[in-house]
Amino acid sequence: MATSAITGRPTLTVGQAVALTLLRDGYTQRTIQTRTGIAPDDLYRLATLHSVTAPHGTVEGHTCHEAAAEEPCGHCELARARADSRARARQRKTIPATARARLLAATRRRAVHR
Ligand SMILES: [Zn+2]
Repeated sequence: MATSAITGRPTLTVGQAVALTLLRDGYTQRTIQTRTGIAPDDLYRLATLHSVTAPHGTVEGHTCHEAAAEEPCGHCELARARADSRARARQRKTIPATARARLLAATRRRAVHR
């Protein structure tokens, strides 16, 4: 990888630079990946390397703390907890649907055997 003569850090591609700007401006990692094609793993590694952080009080902010191996601040901790409970709520909603589908499939299999 090419290295910048000024900072001594690896130079960024245009996509990576845009991704870091979007991260700093508070865009979600999903939006950033869609727009720039930079995977979250790379995004947070680059963010740490270039001292870019997402706004505090966001899930992305929490992940920036993690990527920098530091304790998340209260705002980020709260954002992460909220996102986690939202994800759990979504899961609760989808479980009955999949259970229903499995039941339906089992019923159909029985019908074929007869
Ligand atoms: Zn924070």
